[in-house]
Amino acid sequence: MISKFVHILGVPFINTTQKDFIATLETHVAKQEKTFVVTANPEIVMHSLKDETYKQILAKATYITADGIGIVKAAAIIGEPLPERVSGYDVMLDLLEAANKNHSSVFFLGAAEEVLQATVKKAKQDYPGIKVAGSHNGFFDWNDHQLPQQIKNAAPDFVFVALGFPRQEQWIGANIDQFDKGVFIGIGGSFDVFSGSVKRAPEMWQKMNLEWFYRLVKQPSRWKRMLVLPKFAATVIGRKALRKG
Ligand code: UDP
Repeated sequence: MISKFVHILGVPFINTTQKDFIATLETHVAKQEKTFVVTANPEIVMHSLKDETYKQILAKATYITADGIGIVKAAAIIGEPLPERVSGYDVMLDLLEAANKNHSSVFFLGAAEEVLQATVKKAKQDYPGIKVAGSHNGFFDWNDHQLPQQIKNAAPDFVFVALGFPRQEQWIGANIDQFDKGVFIGIGGSFDVFSGSVKRAPEMWQKMNLEWFYRLVKQPSRWKRMLVLPKFAATVIGRKALRKG
């Protein structure tokens, strides 16, 4: 039997294809069930190992998906393969498509004001069936209760939280209890890509699983963050060896 979750360094990843995952989320929306989605990459997994509070936030998530080829490779290494990556950006696009079809409402939270405005404009243009329940840029006072109240009153079906890691998970974790419904999903820098402010890797690079390399070339300042990748691989392989020994 295929298990529903694959545990990688203690993080339970949902064993699903992107298509099935979208269908699952649509079911939650139809039933108005509150849902917290984390799209986790190796950086998130490694952070959870050293930050207990962050680990507890991940434990609150309804689903954690494999964002990135690193997670898919790690699953193969431990002998519990995941079918494919289910990345934040791709999930956001598919959810917008689903929202368009079902006339669902969407709240956009995060990024700089111009990026956010461009994102909302493009979303309305490309997905005319969606209802924009509201939007707010990602630079706000976390102690101000006005924003959560605004979201609570709007009661959107989907809330895209583009505050970057680990902020987006921290914000959702800290606020989700006060909402009655909605799919809350952290999607990193997706508004920057969607609005055209940052270019995504060409499809060819994505197919070859070299998106991370493209981002590194385009934003060399990210190199330090990428050091976590070999550490992640070494930890996965190390733990596997320990289990066998
Ligand atoms: N961001 C935000 N609020 C903040 C910090 C960042 O809304 O306090 C936004 C930023 O403008 C960008 C996104 O979060 O659109 C992703 O930022 P970053 O590249 O730091 O995150 P990651 O790539 O780790 O998800």
